[in-house]
Amino acid sequence: MKVSRETPKALLINPYIYDFAAYSFWSAPLGLLYIGGILRQNSFQISLIDCLEVVEAKRKEDGRAPFIKEKVSSPSCLEGIKKRLKRYGISKEELLKRLSAIHEPDIILITSIMTYWYMGTKEVLETVRTVFPMSKIVIGGIYPMLCYEHATVHMAGADLIVRNNEIGLFYDFLEHHLSIRLKSRPQLYGFEGVPYPCFDLYGTPYFVPLLTSYGCIYRCAYCSTPFMYPRLIRRKPMEVIDEVIYWQGSGVNRFVLYDDNFLYDKKNHAVPLLKGLSGLTSKPDIYNPNALNAAFIDDEIAELLLYSGFKEIRIGLETIDPKTQRQTGNKVDRDTFERAIKSLVKVGFKTSAIGVYILAGLPFQNWMDVKDAIDYLCDLGVRPHIAEYTPIPHTRLFDEYKALARYPISDEPLFQNNALFPFSWDGFTERDLIFLKHYLREKTSDTD
Ligand code: SF4
Repeated sequence: MKVSRETPKALLINPYIYDFAAYSFWSAPLGLLYIGGILRQNSFQISLIDCLEVVEAKRKEDGRAPFIKEKVSSPSCLEGIKKRLKRYGISKEELLKRLSAIHEPDIILITSIMTYWYMGTKEVLETVRTVFPMSKIVIGGIYPMLCYEHATVHMAGADLIVRNNEIGLFYDFLEHHLSIRLKSRPQLYGFEGVPYPCFDLYGTPYFVPLLTSYGCIYRCAYCSTPFMYPRLIRRKPMEVIDEVIYWQGSGVNRFVLYDDNFLYDKKNHAVPLLKGLSGLTSKPDIYNPNALNAAFIDDEIAELLLYSGFKEIRIGLETIDPKTQRQTGNKVDRDTFERAIKSLVKVGFKTSAIGVYILAGLPFQNWMDVKDAIDYLCDLGVRPHIAEYTPIPHTRLFDEYKALARYPISDEPLFQNNALFPFSWDGFTERDLIFLKHYLREKTSDTD
């Protein structure tokens, strides 16, 4: 396809998903919108279809909201599983309607997130291909990075499947197939020269994710960050502050920190950044769905988090069993954790605004481990959040235990869904998990 127009057209698509349960905890296709910003810098005309729409009437003050959803029938490989599958986001008919309102794009970029959401990506790819047979279609995002071979088979209708460290391949593809010369080819994972993500395509978005770094120096057994981003790369604190001011100027004051290890080497990163944010004329509201590392929270950091605008704090504990702590990440022990809580409370965070993640469903974890952690956290007065373990390809736990899962998690990404509890065993059954969720609800109901 030769592009003769002066302004090439790109369509960005965040596909709908199929899952048993899903909720938008400040979900946004940040990588896709960064690419949109880069294409715009290269004089592309950009449009966006975000299929993952939420029920605006049920949106919470902080920006979270349920996705719109519809029950659907399950594919044959999920036969026998009692849970009901749903499509989250707009329908295929609505997608077709929106596609037909768009002039044929030269390039269509479809992103993907969880590996077990690939069915939605595949369906959107096939739909888009029928409407725009001549457009070049590129699939990117987390799924092809983690399940590349699977993606090459199941996304065969795409013209390019690109992993997150292959941005050069993507630029070459554009130049070759659109017969253009890109004037800007920044390294996406270097931040340098990368424009702000094109969130303006939403009008005034309800919130904007902030990414101040990629990667992590830890190697937790269950986490894919070290595989996805092997190097720790950080923005200059002043650049992040400038971005916050930019979005505030566009009417946005709610920010969601997407970093994986924000507080590491805090003296050179988080401290100057938080000090800068604390000095802004208009204080932003900040949320961190990705846990902060309790080991780095002292009085100074706690104070800076409060004054810079963090409305609540989420931190990771994972487990209170010292042996499991050592095996999974060895980031924090009880003493360190309690010191962090004390600092947060001392500076003025209410305990009800401190959320703590505990992992449930690790291979051969006993359900009592989770109950003990809930009791421990409730005694401290903070809010436990059960994070169900997801087996992610290219992580140590996945490789060590994949053969012991009750589903073929290596062969079929749908079975990597934590809603299917792939590592249920006698010591931790689905009934135990349901009990724990009820137990947690009862224990925290008086503080809701
Ligand atoms: S879980 Fe957090 S600390 Fe551990 S490797 Fe992942 S990002 Fe780093």
